[in-house]
Amino acid sequence: MNSIQMPNFFTKRVHLTPNRPAVKFGQKEWTFKELYDLAYKAAGHLQGANVEKKDYIAVLLKNHIDSVVVLLALQLIGTKAVILNNRLTAEELLYQLNDSQASLLISEDSFQDTLNSVKKGSNINLILKEELDEIPYQIPLIQEEIDLDDICTIMYTSGTSGNPKGVKQSYGNHWWSSIGSALNLGITENDCWLCTVPLFHISGYSILMRSIIYGMKVVLHETFDEKAVIHDIDEERVTIMSVVSIMLSRIIETLGEERLPAYFRCMLLGGGPAPLPLLEKCTSKEIPVYQTYGMTETASQFVTLSPEYSLKKLGSAGKALFPSQLKIVDSLGNELPPNESGEIVVKGPNVTSGYLNKDHQMTEGWFFTGDIGYLDNEGFLFVQDRRSDLIISGGENIYPAEIEGILLSHPNIIDVGVIGKEDEKWGQVPVAFIVTSTGTDLDDNQIMQYCSEKLAKYKVPKQIFYLKGLPRNASKKLLRRKLHEWL
Ligand code: ATP
Ligand code: MG
Repeated sequence: MNSIQMPNFFTKRVHLTPNRPAVKFGQKEWTFKELYDLAYKAAGHLQGANVEKKDYIAVLLKNHIDSVVVLLALQLIGTKAVILNNRLTAEELLYQLNDSQASLLISEDSFQDTLNSVKKGSNINLILKEELDEIPYQIPLIQEEIDLDDICTIMYTSGTSGNPKGVKQSYGNHWWSSIGSALNLGITENDCWLCTVPLFHISGYSILMRSIIYGMKVVLHETFDEKAVIHDIDEERVTIMSVVSIMLSRIIETLGEERLPAYFRCMLLGGGPAPLPLLEKCTSKEIPVYQTYGMTETASQFVTLSPEYSLKKLGSAGKALFPSQLKIVDSLGNELPPNESGEIVVKGPNVTSGYLNKDHQMTEGWFFTGDIGYLDNEGFLFVQDRRSDLIISGGENIYPAEIEGILLSHPNIIDVGVIGKEDEKWGQVPVAFIVTSTGTDLDDNQIMQYCSEKLAKYKVPKQIFYLKGLPRNASKKLLRRKLHEWL
């Protein structure tokens, strides 16, 4: 197939709408032209540091206007940005720097301690953003044209199921992800997207991409703070926001009796399934929630559920966006009929071509996600769990996420993880690790009784362990493999 060329997204955007607002950060706002000038200048200093199109350049930066500038400068030069998670330890960073063979790391003063440890384990060149201006400026070589197959970013997966994998995200993947989202949500001139999720995740980076492709303003926050969110939705007339469920519940709690303004039209909820009580609260407050399913490998959301279905299709992530296809297959790769669980496989122009230095199962363009789910009679997707976390007990499939959902609905349980334990009779049985709210006295009997009322007997945890906290990774995802180690 012939590759497709397009103008550099950012230069094209500046050409089209130079004077529209692009980003608001802190008390300041930048138009696309102002942002371009900053990125062009940064590209000049990077040119002075011999950064070239063919390079892999690692970035470890917080949500900040400077980070937007650096990320866009790298797009202007056309290099591959290896975008690193802020919360990683030095050891985890070294793994990703080594795996990606990045030639340069761009970071900032505030990571000094981690950087010191990184320097001990690697001889990678380091530039602090605070020192970028000190590098002699050279006129940057801007890639006026990009190929949709060119790699734009390398983003590592969260490492929930094992070592993180470096996902190759092409310009085409980002382009089609933005277009798919626009076809689903529509875009109006008044749209403004609030980004409190990290730019180093596809959830945040994809907002930046949409800003450039749509010509839309982004309000960028350094971290998530529910009061600042409510304030800026009002003040900046934010219309769309990306959240995970914990953020949404904090917004609702802080809102109290108040409501969000009517122009606020989309809460894009990702990362995992949404609990029923939360969706009900959103409905009663008329907050339009779009549930999504996606992964680093699909350059953001792949499947979305519109608000009109959010209660009727409770627990569903929706249907695949316009450019994408999805099916459920058995272990031999044969497509399964509705209501039968199997592996979710996806295909589309937003799906990665693969990982750095790792093979992955891809059959005729279909990508095997490692997630299990089923489609209902109307084609709505229900994600059940990761294949690697499935518990098989006496021949019955048990999805830990289902049991965790039930336990979490108990008023005195604040966190929970369920895994399978080897069992002579049943092969495996489910056991639960529980964190209770302070001052509550729950015993095994009470918990098992609670589960028995809501779950089939074989799904009721056979053992309960009480912990102060659960092992979670930098993305706050539960590390069930650590629970296995503890067992
Ligand atoms: P790794 O691949 O290294 O184990 P990860 O899969 O957690 O890490 P991400 O790409 O950040 O890394 O997360 C994508 C995964 O998150 C999906 O494959 C799926 O398991 C889970 N997920 C995303 N959305 C949903 C959803 N709506 N319901 C259930 N699970 C979801
Ligand atoms: Mg994954």
